[in-house]
Amino acid sequence: MIGAPPGLEFIGCGIDGAAPELRHGSGGGRRRHVTVNGRRTVTVDVHAHCIIPGTREIVDAKLAFPPKPMTLVSHERLREMDEQGVDYQALSINPFWYEAPVELATQVVNINNERLAEFCAAHPDRFVAFASVALQEPQIAAVQLEHAVKNLGLRGTAVGAHVGSKEFSDPAFHPFWAKAEELGAVIFIHPTNMPEFKRLKGNGALASVIGNPLDTTIALSHLIFEGTLDRFPGLKICAAHGGGYLPSYVGRSDHGMRVFPDRCDPSIVLKKAPTEYLRGMYFDSLVMNTEGLRHLVEVVGASQVLMGSDHPSGWTTEQVDHVLSTPGLSDDDRIAILGRNAARLLGISHVEPAKQATTAI
Ligand SMILES: [Zn+2]
Repeated sequence: MIGAPPGLEFIGCGIDGAAPELRHGSGGGRRRHVTVNGRRTVTVDVHAHCIIPGTREIVDAKLAFPPKPMTLVSHERLREMDEQGVDYQALSINPFWYEAPVELATQVVNINNERLAEFCAAHPDRFVAFASVALQEPQIAAVQLEHAVKNLGLRGTAVGAHVGSKEFSDPAFHPFWAKAEELGAVIFIHPTNMPEFKRLKGNGALASVIGNPLDTTIALSHLIFEGTLDRFPGLKICAAHGGGYLPSYVGRSDHGMRVFPDRCDPSIVLKKAPTEYLRGMYFDSLVMNTEGLRHLVEVVGASQVLMGSDHPSGWTTEQVDHVLSTPGLSDDDRIAILGRNAARLLGISHVEPAKQATTAI
């Protein structure tokens, strides 16, 4: 165990101070149990955030969101999961330590991973988590990931969509991808702020609304076009926000290779078309409308889509109904997207507690 930094309070309603109903994995209110065609189906939200209070101060980081709603657990988090029909959340902490000296970043990473592991171990019926890593030093990040997966039981890692000016296709990251591939760890790619994009300032929260999906689009495109995914074909990548814009417009990426071969590096010969790389990745369902989700499934397949909400950012509370109401999906598709794909990918063995059957709605 690592020591808590000065001022670290593991929040008043955390593990030690949890009310009895929290210890039993319930928010204390009414819990929605989701069914597809009359069959109870497990639901997993793979896009859910938290922070560990006190960690930002270590690296003097500012967050886009106020910390209180992001705290690891509260009555409110479990109550909202219950109301929204979410059986499990896969927790992630958006990296805010990439610019910090690696020693300080490592302090944050260790605290995050220890606390997440403790918390998931205390609530195995509601939570799994992605580890934090100090990706500004990929060799160190590889060691951190191995420890988190092998010793702490975390399911993979949550990373940004770039590190400073470096893209994930940079050879500096190869040791990290090699370790992730070896471990079978899921890499949850979540965009980070793009302050260099000055054009995204102004009305409309464009840095989030446009910038975040663009950030992911760029990250995935480099991983494809620089040959990183050919070098590490076993990587399990899950991209937030439905992979940004890439699955919406991947025909242009396929086409560009054909019409501009003179602009492609002859030393990089991709093994397949960009669309086919997408079919080997995973994407959350957070594309905000049913046509977007229908199209995502059409492009990448229902086996590659995992329910995501961005809880507790407020983007949606209707992630379950979004999947249930999207036209053109089979019952099996819905069951897969709602939770079966994620349960398999993240190693969640769901056993329905008998007592909960009486509260199903
Ligand atoms: Zn998010």
